[in-house]
Amino acid sequence: MTTQAVLLAQGNELTTGLTVDTNSNWLAGRLWELGLEVRRVITAPDRRDDLVEILGQAATLAPVVISTGGLGPTRDDLTAEAVAQAFGWPLQLDEEALAQVVARFQAFQRPIVDANRKQALLPQGARVLENRWGTAPGFSVDPPGGGRMYFLPGVPREMKPMFDAHVGPDVLARNRIAAPVTVTLRVLGVPESVLEEKMRGLDLPGLEIGFRTMLPENHVKLRFEHDVPAEARAEVVAQARARIGWRAFGVDSGDLAQVVGQALAERGETLALAESCTAGRLAGWVASVPGASRYLLEGAVVYSNEAKVRTCGVRPEDLDAHGAVSEEVARQLARGIRQRAGATWGLGITGIAGPGGGTAEKPVGTVHVALAGPQGDVSHRRYHFPGDRERVQLLAAAGALAQLWREVGGGAGGARGGRGRDLTQKYMFRPMLPWKAPG
Ligand code: AMP
Ligand code: MG
Repeated sequence: MTTQAVLLAQGNELTTGLTVDTNSNWLAGRLWELGLEVRRVITAPDRRDDLVEILGQAATLAPVVISTGGLGPTRDDLTAEAVAQAFGWPLQLDEEALAQVVARFQAFQRPIVDANRKQALLPQGARVLENRWGTAPGFSVDPPGGGRMYFLPGVPREMKPMFDAHVGPDVLARNRIAAPVTVTLRVLGVPESVLEEKMRGLDLPGLEIGFRTMLPENHVKLRFEHDVPAEARAEVVAQARARIGWRAFGVDSGDLAQVVGQALAERGETLALAESCTAGRLAGWVASVPGASRYLLEGAVVYSNEAKVRTCGVRPEDLDAHGAVSEEVARQLARGIRQRAGATWGLGITGIAGPGGGTAEKPVGTVHVALAGPQGDVSHRRYHFPGDRERVQLLAAAGALAQLWREVGGGAGGARGGRGRDLTQKYMFRPMLPWKAPG
């Protein structure tokens, strides 16, 4: 039977709308990957009576309870007290926890105050969970009934590594869960509903498929029970990928900028960008990848018509005839910036991010992307992205990068199939999944 879990997020900042509860969202994803079923996600303010009641209930609901927040040094951090009260255990100064807190403060060369010592006050019988990423130690307790409750700090940067270091492995071992293997297909430009349809009929005993949207990407998560053989897993992953085609740009990979960057680096090719409506957003994204200097030569923000003419050699008469947001101008931007930088590839982006500036002919969200390639060829795509300015800019940058991906890595699945090297094995599979050709 599937092991069940309850998640509890504590903090006034959550119940007053100051902070979004990203912890529960992240933990729910992790637990799904580990093969657990989340029975409740509870959010509560820092109020002791409520916490005592919730903790008592949670202990009866599931053998795994994971709580975040409320471990800080201030008076509103009540978790340890609430646990002690809920189960009738006294609070004690935990020497191990205290030593960890003291050591952290020494490492930061910060003076320790009594409020910090409070962080070492734990319910009797608690086990300390070391926090190597911050000051507040976590802890776990075993309430009556046979389950275990884990208490982690609220700061996501500390909570996540603590979960992976202390909680995940303990949950698996204690509940005798053989962890499933989860494979994430990263997809650009295919809506979730379409992905769901494409995955229909992809059946295998022990396979569970989940979908997740993380703009600009959609993820298909394939979760295999531990006893599904590696070859069967690889077969399903290959099939899933083939059903989606070149837009499935990675399996357990980095984001599109990383994957495209790696492909460019391996091919020894370079890139230059001329951005109008995205105004450098794509350049920033490409440069967010360490080592981008190997392939990113230049990025120009050509917002005004003059800049388009001066920097990329766009012909003024074409600007007049077609407008700045047009296929013709996008093509000249791509060609111009490629030549100027002496790059293998040039991308030109021009569009209407909104909210104003749209017309019936060119509504807000209209974006032209052109890609100039090494053979002097220029391909073009016109998009119409729905949504606000932020979203149009993000999707325009992603669309442009996807166009490049299709050429440098999209390989076998691409409409121009076979163009470029087939990097399928390189990008599509982790080493533990041996490649098996479909059919
Ligand atoms: P705490 O451990 O309660 O002192 O929380 C410290 C900080 O972590 C809070 O001020 C929030 O910024 C952040 N935080 C707490 N709970 C959450 C949560 N559920 N999701 C995201 N951030 C959180
Ligand atoms: Mg708090």
